[in-house]
Amino acid sequence: MTDVSFESLGLAPELLRAVAEQGYSEPTPVQQEAIPLGLAGRDVVGSAQTGTGKTAAFLLPILQRIREKPRGSLRALILVPTRELAEQVLLCAKDYGRHCKTKAAAVYGGVALGPQTRALRAGVDIVVATPGRLLDHIQRGHVDSSNLEVLVLDEADRMLDMGFAPDVNRILDTLPAVRQTMLFSATISGDVDRLARRALNRPAEVKIGRRTATADGVQHVLVAVDKPEKWRALSRLLQELPDGGRTLVFTRTKHGADRLARQLRTEGTRVAAMHGGKTQQLRDKALNHFKEGKAPILIATDVAARGIDVDNIVMVVNYDVPADPEVYIHRVGRTARAGANGVALTLMSPDEWLLMTDVEKLIGTSFPRETVPGFEPAIEPMQPWERPELARQQGPSVRARRGGARRR
Ligand code: AMP
Repeated sequence: MTDVSFESLGLAPELLRAVAEQGYSEPTPVQQEAIPLGLAGRDVVGSAQTGTGKTAAFLLPILQRIREKPRGSLRALILVPTRELAEQVLLCAKDYGRHCKTKAAAVYGGVALGPQTRALRAGVDIVVATPGRLLDHIQRGHVDSSNLEVLVLDEADRMLDMGFAPDVNRILDTLPAVRQTMLFSATISGDVDRLARRALNRPAEVKIGRRTATADGVQHVLVAVDKPEKWRALSRLLQELPDGGRTLVFTRTKHGADRLARQLRTEGTRVAAMHGGKTQQLRDKALNHFKEGKAPILIATDVAARGIDVDNIVMVVNYDVPADPEVYIHRVGRTARAGANGVALTLMSPDEWLLMTDVEKLIGTSFPRETVPGFEPAIEPMQPWERPELARQQGPSVRARRGGARRR
C-alpha cells in the first residue's frame, strides 16, 4: 500500500502541511485505513498498538472536521488512560493542528483543577482527558458537551485495566448520543468489546497486523538468569550498548523500579526512574532527562510508561516477565516504532518460565533461551526445540515437567 499518500486520503492543505513538517512521508497502515473512515464520519474500532501512528489516525479527521468551523466549544473529546498519554496526545493535536485555528487542552489528575477549569470555561475545541479528572470537572459543571461531535477512546484496554470502566460509563451518559466515536485498543478483549458495543454505532473495524503481533523490526532476546543476579546481568548487558541509544526498562512495581535504579547507579550507570509514586514534577524531570540523553536509561512501571513517546528507543527491557502476556506487547511497542529496529530483552528467572511461554503462545513464536557469561542460572531452561510437547500441555503437569529441566 505504499502508493497511498496523505494527499490521496483527502486531507485539507493545512493538515498536509503540518504532517509534512512532522517529516511523515506516507501514512502508516492504520492511518491509511482509519483516516478515510474518520473523515467519512464513521465509528471505528481499531486494534492498533502504540507506535503504529494511531494518534494521527484519529486526530487528523478530528482536526479536519473542526478546522472548517472552529467554535470554541467542546467538539472532540479524547479519553486516555494516563496523564502522560494525555500530554502526548495534546502535543500531537497542537503539532498536527498548528495551521488550523483549533484550541486544545488536556485535563488529568494529580495537578490543580484551576487552570484546567479556566481552559474548559474559556472554550476549547478538543479536550484530551483521563476519565477520573474529567468526571470531576463534569460533576462540577465545568464541561458543556452539548456541541460534542467526536469521542475517542484511546488505549481502551489499558483504561479498563486501570479500573476506569465506571467513570467512562458515567461520562458516556453525559455525552450527546449522536456523535462519531472511535475506539483504539492494542488488543480487543471481552471487556473492550463490551465497551465498544455500548459506545459505538455500527463501527468499521480496522485491524493492523495480527492482534497479537509486535512490530516486525523487534528482535526478541530472552535471557535466563537467577533472580538475585538479574540486575548485575542487566548492568553487564547495558555496558555493551552503543552510545546514543535509549533503553526503557520495565519493572512490575514502583519499589522494584527504585531499587533497580539504585543498584545500577552503584555501577556508575546513568538512569532515571519514573513511576506513579513520584510527583508529576519528578516524573516530568525523569522523562526530560531521558529525552535529552542525560539519562539514556529510563526505568519505569507499566502505568507510568504509557504514552511516553520518545524516538530512538533501541531497547526495551522486561526486567520481569509480565503476568499478563498482553503487557509484553505493550511494552515492546515502545521500541522499533515507525519502521525502525529495536531489541526486546527479557530477563527470565525460573519462576517466570511459564509466564514466558504464555507470552510466546500469544505472539505465536518461541525464542531461544540465552545466557550472559558469568550469570548462567543454576537450572538451565529447556530450549523451545527440546520441548515440542509443551505447546499441547497445560497446567501443573507442565510445571512438573519443566521443574525437571536439565540441571547444569
Ligand atoms: P503513535 O502510534 O500514534 O503513538 O505514533 C508512533 C510514532 O510514529 C510517533 O512518534 C509519531 O510521530 C510517528 N508517526 C505517526 N505517523 C507517522 C507517519 N505517517 N510516518 C512516520 N512516522 C509517523
